[in-house]
Amino acid sequence: MLPLDPQADIGRRAWVPCPRCEDSRDCGPCGERRTCSRHWRYLLSNKGSLLHLQCPGCTHVWTHESGFGATRSTWSRVAGGPEGP
Ligand SMILES: [Zn+2]
Ligand SMILES: [Zn+2]
Repeated sequence: MLPLDPQADIGRRAWVPCPRCEDSRDCGPCGERRTCSRHWRYLLSNKGSLLHLQCPGCTHVWTHESGFGATRSTWSRVAGGPEGP
């Protein structure tokens, strides 16, 4: 298991399925791509639409192509933050 990245911050989360442990596979809210209270990932950083994520469950780190630019309006749909939805 990797240690949690020092950049991991519970105030910056993203709802993306973890490709390693797939813990959200059978979850209702996750299946509907809603913001689930149990299955979220630390958002370590982002470059445009590329998200750098870490799973709090298995500590897997990966990059996810979100498919859109990180504009303010679309961004709030993926990640929670001070600006919120
Ligand atoms: Zn995981
Ligand atoms: Zn879930």
